[in-house]
Amino acid sequence: LILSFVRPWPEAILDIQRAEGSYYFSAAFGAVLRKYGYIGEKTVHGVAAGGYGFVCRNTPWSDEWAHSALVLEGPLHNTVTETLGIKAQSLVQPEFKVRELGNGGIWALRYSTFRVRRIPERGNEQSLPFRFHCSDPLWNKNAFSVQHFLCGADWQPVLEVHDDSEGRWYPMAVRRRNLLLLGAPLLDIAAFEHTFPPLCDAGYYNMEHASQASGICNWLFGVAQKLFLDNDQELVRCLPWPDGHTAALSIRHDYDRKITDDQHARILRFYASSAVKSTWFWLNRNYQRAQIKSTIQDGHEVALHSEAKSDDQFRAEVDDFIARAGLRPQGVTAHGGAGAIGYLGHASMVRTRSLGCLYGEILGRGYDWPHGMIGVVNGYPESFDLVIPPPHLSLDLSTKPEGHNLVALCERVPATLAKGAYCIVMNHPDIHVAELEALITSLDLRSVWKATLAEVARWTRVLAITSEVRGGTSGFMLMLREPLPKTARLEVVRASGRRTVLVEKGSRAFDLSGHA
Ligand SMILES: [Zn+2]
Repeated sequence: LILSFVRPWPEAILDIQRAEGSYYFSAAFGAVLRKYGYIGEKTVHGVAAGGYGFVCRNTPWSDEWAHSALVLEGPLHNTVTETLGIKAQSLVQPEFKVRELGNGGIWALRYSTFRVRRIPERGNEQSLPFRFHCSDPLWNKNAFSVQHFLCGADWQPVLEVHDDSEGRWYPMAVRRRNLLLLGAPLLDIAAFEHTFPPLCDAGYYNMEHASQASGICNWLFGVAQKLFLDNDQELVRCLPWPDGHTAALSIRHDYDRKITDDQHARILRFYASSAVKSTWFWLNRNYQRAQIKSTIQDGHEVALHSEAKSDDQFRAEVDDFIARAGLRPQGVTAHGGAGAIGYLGHASMVRTRSLGCLYGEILGRGYDWPHGMIGVVNGYPESFDLVIPPPHLSLDLSTKPEGHNLVALCERVPATLAKGAYCIVMNHPDIHVAELEALITSLDLRSVWKATLAEVARWTRVLAITSEVRGGTSGFMLMLREPLPKTARLEVVRASGRRTVLVEKGSRAFDLSGHA
């Protein structure tokens, strides 16, 4: 039940980063595995810990791999191609056309790029967006290397890459019995699309080229799971939501402008009648003591909407929040209005984590379910237990009465919930409240978990991010760092079928042996 996530040794990771001129995000792919429910994930260096798993690119061959079911990320280390008797050719480009064999899906394989914009001091100043380039060059991903393979007939191609100069397709992922070789840095791309470079003086504006991380992950986990099961391995996966729920919804209010106590009470009354939960992010210049108190009394959450331009200002905001609200904020979002600096990506996440918060924020990347923060803290990318929810959907486009997104959200919110994902709808409580009520009233929420951002974050951290499967020949235990906030459903999957297992609310440890 333990899924080995094999990385090179730390010194080797630093060497690869120097040679490639960019961070080795493959090292943090464990956060993506856990986002997809693979809670048996165990990170190791150099050698596999269990019978199956993933190996990061450029890890030297280990003889134990010969007997494990493994997905090897490329570019492959030369000891791997030599041991397996495979010839590999490298192509270097910023984007590759890749096609799946079997069902014929075609992807553009690339790292995403985005635009930033300096937020003006006042609303009427012009400020043009421009493509982001990080001052720490290791964050910039441009052209990258992909291998295609020349191998014997015992290897079955599963993906092909197009060589534009020759106008031909070549095998880029091949499978034989217990090994799946990928010629491309798919783990690196997937992990990169779950983090955000540090911004400094200009906030995030929009995506320029999005990546197809969601499609890549779906394909990868599909072929990987088949490989593992074909080799008689057993997998444990958690379902993303508490037992009885198929999706999750939170309403996020950015409290940028004051509303009256009456307006506030009216919104809370609507939530009481619709059983929806909300999180109110307060700018600290706008605190309303009575509103904060009634928000908490009604079971909603209050959190911090930050406009800090430095770490010191951020610390002062948190101290101020604690003094006025009487509690520590569990989550922080960035204010993007005139005079603020906006969302600063990695810098915002590191700040939020350093003050002991439970969850932070991501924009433009990440999708569908929350994940553990991917950050660069000690020289190379690692995953951390700060929870990063998927980006929010904004109901508000401007403060004008007609400046809302109701029609689009009436399609996007149900579509997000229908695929079992987490939907966060954002609204400023002084505008478009009637549209917010219309949106919520239109939704079928019977099986949806209606929760605050903190409730969803704590659930995800306990079950998916910090859990650990321990054991071996005598049995397996699922160990949790805190009591489970609600009853969870796990699946134990093997070639002959799957079993669903309930782990009761309040559990700290659960014996998986009888279920394997
Ligand atoms: Zn704001």
